[in-house]
Amino acid sequence: MTARILVVDDIPANVKLLEARLMAEYFEVLTAADGMTALSICDQTPVDLILLDIMMPGIDGFEVCERLKNNPRTAHIPVVMVTALDQPADRVRGLKAGADDFLTKPVNDLQLMTRVKSLIRFKALSDELRLRAETARSIGLESLLTPHQGRLEDPGMVLLVESRAHTQERMSRALSGIAEITAIADPQAALFEAADKPYELVIVSSSLEDYDPLRLCSQLRSLERTRFIPMLVVAEQGEDDLVIRALELGVNDYLVRPLDPNELLARSVTQIRRKRYSDKLRASLTESVEFAVTDALTGLNNRRYLDTHLATLVDRSSRRGRPLSVLITDIDHFKAINDTHGHEGGDDVLRDFARRVRGAVRGADLACRYGGEEFVVVMPDTTAEIAAQVAERLREAVAAAPFMISATGIAASVTTSVGIATLEADREGADSLLRRADKALYQAKNEGRNRVVGQAA
Ligand code: GH3
Ligand code: MG
Ligand code: MG
Repeated sequence: MTARILVVDDIPANVKLLEARLMAEYFEVLTAADGMTALSICDQTPVDLILLDIMMPGIDGFEVCERLKNNPRTAHIPVVMVTALDQPADRVRGLKAGADDFLTKPVNDLQLMTRVKSLIRFKALSDELRLRAETARSIGLESLLTPHQGRLEDPGMVLLVESRAHTQERMSRALSGIAEITAIADPQAALFEAADKPYELVIVSSSLEDYDPLRLCSQLRSLERTRFIPMLVVAEQGEDDLVIRALELGVNDYLVRPLDPNELLARSVTQIRRKRYSDKLRASLTESVEFAVTDALTGLNNRRYLDTHLATLVDRSSRRGRPLSVLITDIDHFKAINDTHGHEGGDDVLRDFARRVRGAVRGADLACRYGGEEFVVVMPDTTAEIAAQVAERLREAVAAAPFMISATGIAASVTTSVGIATLEADREGADSLLRRADKALYQAKNEGRNRVVGQAA
């Protein structure tokens, strides 16, 4: 793992210490002795993570953090605030400023490395997602670029796995302001519960009765329905080995007893916020991918999708020596439909037409809106003979019943012409196949429309 880390502290000895430890792990380290320098570095250079001291002359760490999080260009950089041990209130203020994590001075090595590595891993993932979402020109991305609002907008859903009733109570109380907590003593029951409801965080106690907490963590990581839920392990003093193994299993963070309620709160909020951020990114990515390959009017795949996917299907069929047919269908005299019923009326016809196309073909067939009133269906494993039957079924489905124009309530008669082509054995490409189907369609139009023509090779 390689990353560029900025260390900000006004005391040179603190900077040197952190710098040496990070460089020993092969991280690239930049340093700043005050807030303004830190801000200007972040503005000019890509930084993957910031370790930020709080007490500094000029602007303090809280303000640096706030400014970074309010700037869309730097908001996604994780900030770890380095606080003094006896200042629990700093955590709450840091959280409000948008800090992603905390370390206490003197900085413990295990904590430093686990937190730094987990944040860098998270940043690498979100950078990747942001890049893909941007490439797909997803809308509403600005709001995603500023994920840190300082606190949770809605209470989080937290599952607490802890055997001891009084500990359950104390932890629930600490989190009551930010989350709805479900506390369960039985680890197996907890696993089912986690798979059943949309939890945003699972907190696992290291001292479960008769059960290995790591086993539960590994089960949560491997189940399809729970693998994206962040996990927080609560360990006893001296359980470093368990913590290291937990982190290797994909546990996101840990706490050590005796629990500091502020730290529990801060770490829980961080995990929930991070989960919401990556969920949003993932959803926006899926949405933008769908958006890019789907026709908005009919919900069918669009031409762009067809162009990429047809090549794959053609290639696969010729390699396997399987038949493949395509049909192109174009609504007859559609211009007249638009002229009579208006553009809106024309759109109604297109929607209903797409529905009839979908109804006439198999699930394995790929139906696309190719252009205005032109549709293409790709039929894998389909001979010319079968394709002709499908095309005829489609033609009938269109001609058999009139199309309702919703604005006027008028029923319009519509017909369509269809051209078919079947893949040649001798390595024909997708373009040539479509060209032949288009020729057949042209012939169907010329012969009087409302008919199917199969194009011979
Ligand atoms: P033919 O039988 O020869 O196919 O005649 P046609 O009138 O259907 O063919 P032509 O290609 O000349 O006209 C197609 C019309 O489809 C022209 C265009 O304005 C209209 N059109 C294209 N896209 C849309 C759309 O999304 N909605 C509507 N309502 N009309 C569209
Ligand atoms: Mg037409
Ligand atoms: Mg046309």
